[in-house]
Amino acid sequence: MDQKWFEDQEARIPQGEIRTRFAPSPTGYMHVGNLRTALYTWLIARHAGGKFILRIEDTDQGRLVEGAVEVIYATLRKCGITWDEGPDIGGPVGPYIQTERRDFYGKYAQLLVEKGAAYRCFCDKARLESLHAQGGLGGYDGHCRDLTAAEIDEKLAQGVPYVIRQKIPREGSTTFEDAVFGTITVENNTLDDQVLIKSDGLPTYNFANVIDDHLMGITHVVRGSEYLSSAPKYNLLYEAFGWPIPTYIHCSPVMRDANNKMSKRHGDPSYEDLIAMGFLSEAVVNYVTLLGWSPRGKDAEREFFSLKELADIFDVGGISKSPAIFDLDKLKYFNANYLRALSPEDFCKAALPYLDQAVTTPGIDKTLIAPLVQPRCETLLDIAPQVDFFDQLPPYSNDLYCHKKMKTDKANSLEALEKVLPVLEALDPWSYDAIHDALVGLAQAQALKNGRIMWPVRTAVSGKAVTPGGAVELCQILGKQETLRRIQLGIAQLRQAE
Ligand code: GLU
Repeated sequence: MDQKWFEDQEARIPQGEIRTRFAPSPTGYMHVGNLRTALYTWLIARHAGGKFILRIEDTDQGRLVEGAVEVIYATLRKCGITWDEGPDIGGPVGPYIQTERRDFYGKYAQLLVEKGAAYRCFCDKARLESLHAQGGLGGYDGHCRDLTAAEIDEKLAQGVPYVIRQKIPREGSTTFEDAVFGTITVENNTLDDQVLIKSDGLPTYNFANVIDDHLMGITHVVRGSEYLSSAPKYNLLYEAFGWPIPTYIHCSPVMRDANNKMSKRHGDPSYEDLIAMGFLSEAVVNYVTLLGWSPRGKDAEREFFSLKELADIFDVGGISKSPAIFDLDKLKYFNANYLRALSPEDFCKAALPYLDQAVTTPGIDKTLIAPLVQPRCETLLDIAPQVDFFDQLPPYSNDLYCHKKMKTDKANSLEALEKVLPVLEALDPWSYDAIHDALVGLAQAQALKNGRIMWPVRTAVSGKAVTPGGAVELCQILGKQETLRRIQLGIAQLRQAE
């Protein structure tokens, strides 16, 4: 064994700072649960002024997805999750992609074999399958645990493929601390001699994460509670190497309902899906952070936080043991608030792609529509159905002209539109103020409440009972020619029904 090499690895490990890592497998999308893990991991590091490391766990070659690493980068960036070390920017303990660390795992597995904490297992597939078929816990029966050196040499000489398994002590128990779940003790005889290195030479997740977390100096390991039951095995590995054990922070799953985890396969949205559904990244980040974590003290009742504010107050003690239920309506509530809080310019920027798709008539100024829909959206997808009438006046019933509060009916609406038409025809320039003053002036001249004029005009130009914006805004946006055409149509439609 090259003692010096191992010493060099130890010497590289940064000391004296909080170091956390997000370690996604490149699947091509970001689960809500994974995003939450990334956020908690990042928040712990930023809160402590420590380092946040991005590591790509790609040892499961069967599950590789093209372009998936780029999706991870893009998603994290969009969420404001910045990394201090990672595959693209390097760092003191790289490489940060597991397949590029292949040699490390082999060396440490070898070290473990020499320490007597791991062994080569030459069992073939047929034997393992028959073990599995016999039932039991599905665990390995330890057939190769005590092969003699001569037996091992012989198999190696014959080139029999092998895996390396962890040699779990048969007696005693293992105890570990989790910051969320407390003290957990398991009997060692319930733990399986898990595979550490597969026959293709690549490590299993269970081995690679221990080696990497140690070599990267990770002080706080944040991950899903599905890994809780494996933690004792990891601890036995740390102990065998004589390494310090990191602080574990296992997080309960994000659920679709009381009984089911969120699952992309069952149609639950990923982060990317939520963005496509018209949610703002900031709203998703805020809401997802609160799924299973609550602020305490003076912020206990507060709901809205920027990422910076979250980093200031985040504490591991606020993470809940109970699973959190993802509630799309609650997310909509967060999103509506975020949309409303945007500056008009930022909202316009966010809304423009949706407006461009929904309104295609040339000459319509979308920047005038944006402020009208801003207070009326829960998601950006709510924009299109509200603005469809700009392109095309929908067929509508004259009943729309009847409004109790406005004191309008079909007959007085017809009268109003007939009076409005020449006034607007004469209008120049066609500006908001000019239209406003003309319509209000007309109401005053007739000693009518404004609504008696505004309601029929709004109805005639939109054909809808509810619109973003009132008569004046709609006329301004539609332009003179189209406004007059729609008012003429309204008049014709009302006359016809008389
Ligand atoms: N690659 C693992 C996953 O995506 C990471 C688990 C961990 O953070 O340790 O689930």
